[in-house]
Amino acid sequence: MNINKSITLFQEAQTIFPGGVNSPVRAFRAVGGQPIFIERGEGAYLFDVDGNRYIDYVLSWGPLITGHAHPKVIEAIRQAALKGTSYGAPSPLEIDLARSIMDFMPNIEMLRFVNSGTEATMSALRLARAYTKRDKILKFDGCYHGHADMLLVQAGSGVATLGLPDSPGVPATVAADTLVANFNDLDSVEALFKKYPDQIAGIIVEPVAGNMGVVPPQPGFLEGLRAITSREGSVLIFDEVMTGFRVHRGGAQTRYNIKPDLTTLGKVIGGGLPVGAYGGRKEIMQMVAPLGPMYQAGTLSGNPLAMSAGIAALSLIKGEECWEKLEKAADKLVSGILSAAKHAGIPIQQTRVGTMFTTFFSETKPKDWNTVKVADKIRFGRFFQKMLENGVYLAPSQFEAGFISTMHTDDLIDKTIAAVTEAFRT
Ligand SMILES: *Cc1c(COP(=O)(O)O)cnc(C)c1O
Repeated sequence: MNINKSITLFQEAQTIFPGGVNSPVRAFRAVGGQPIFIERGEGAYLFDVDGNRYIDYVLSWGPLITGHAHPKVIEAIRQAALKGTSYGAPSPLEIDLARSIMDFMPNIEMLRFVNSGTEATMSALRLARAYTKRDKILKFDGCYHGHADMLLVQAGSGVATLGLPDSPGVPATVAADTLVANFNDLDSVEALFKKYPDQIAGIIVEPVAGNMGVVPPQPGFLEGLRAITSREGSVLIFDEVMTGFRVHRGGAQTRYNIKPDLTTLGKVIGGGLPVGAYGGRKEIMQMVAPLGPMYQAGTLSGNPLAMSAGIAALSLIKGEECWEKLEKAADKLVSGILSAAKHAGIPIQQTRVGTMFTTFFSETKPKDWNTVKVADKIRFGRFFQKMLENGVYLAPSQFEAGFISTMHTDDLIDKTIAAVTEAFRT
C-alpha cells in the first residue's frame, strides 16, 4: 500500500499541529504507523490522498449514519448556503430540527442547540447543578463526555487510548467535585450517594458505553440509576451524543425504555456538521437563560447549514424499515467476525448494540473499564494494520466503537468479513 503523500503531509502537519492532528486519537498512536490523510468520502468509502480506497467503519466517529456525502444531505447544505451561512438570529430551521429530534425522543420537552457534544454535556451539567443547587456530579470510569474540565476524569476514549493520567490543567478543586463509579455496578453508585448525601447534582452516563469500546448496560443497571436519582433528588443525564440515533431511532432511552431528566445529543443530529444539543424536562430546561438564570450561549448555535444537514440526515433514518436493515447489516457483520475468530482460534469478545460494535481481543467479558482494559492492544494494533492494508478503515484504538451506515450494503459487509478472515488467518 502506497501512502507516500500521507507521509509527507503528516511530516508537515507535525510542525503545525500538536502531534500532527486536531483531535488526539486520529494520530494512530495506539496502533502504530501514521494517520492516513483523506481526500474525500463517498457512501461507505473513504479515499486517501494517495488514491487508496477504504470501507469506512469510523464514519467521522459516529455522525455519518447515512454515509459520506449523501446526495440529500449535500443538497440540503447547498440550498442552505445559498441563503447565507449564519444569521445570529432565530430561523425556522431550528424548529424543524428540534421537532424531528423530539419526535424520536419524546422525553425531550424543550431543548437548546449548541455546537458540539462537549458543549452539550458541560451545559447539561451546569444546568443540573443550577437546578439542584448541588455541586458534585457522578460519572462512570471509562465513559467519555467531551473534554470539559469536570468530565475529564477517568474519561475513556482518547484519554484511555493514550494511557494518559487525568489531564493536567484540570484544577484539583474542579476534579474533586467529580465522583467516579463503575459502569454496570449500582453498589458503587449507592456507596457514593451514601458518602455524599444531598451533594450530588446528577449522574451523567453513556447509557450504552461507547468510548471504552461498546459495553452494553446489564439488565437493571439503567433502571437502577433512574431509581437512585429519583430517590436522591438528583438529575439523571443520558449522554446520548453517540447512542442517540445509533442504538435505536429513539436512542438508548427508547431502546431500554428509561426516562432520563436530561439528554445530551451531538454527532448524528448534525448530519456531519458541528451540532450538539441538550434538552429534557421542561421544569429543568426553564432554568436556561433567557427564560431562567443559568447562562449558556453560542455565536454559531443553531447554524443554518448544520440544522439543514441534521434535518436531512434524520429524515433519511426515520423509517422502521431503515432500522431493520441497519440492525440486520450490523448483525451480519459481527456474526461474521465471531465465526472468523472461532475458526482461527482467536479469543475475542464481540459486542454490539444497534449500529455500534467493538471487537475486543480478550478472554474477559466486557462489563466495565476494569474488564475492558485487559484487552490485548498489541494484537488489536496488528489487526488494525492488516485491515487497513485490506482496504478496511477501523477506529485506530481498541477502546472505540465501530459504526455502520445505511450505505454499508450486504456486498460491502461480505468483503469486510473476508478481510477479517484473512487478517485473523495471518
Ligand atoms: C463524542 C462524544 C462527546 C463529545 O462530543 P464532541 O462533539 O466531540 O465534543 C460527548 N459524549 C459522548 C458520549 C461522545 O461519544
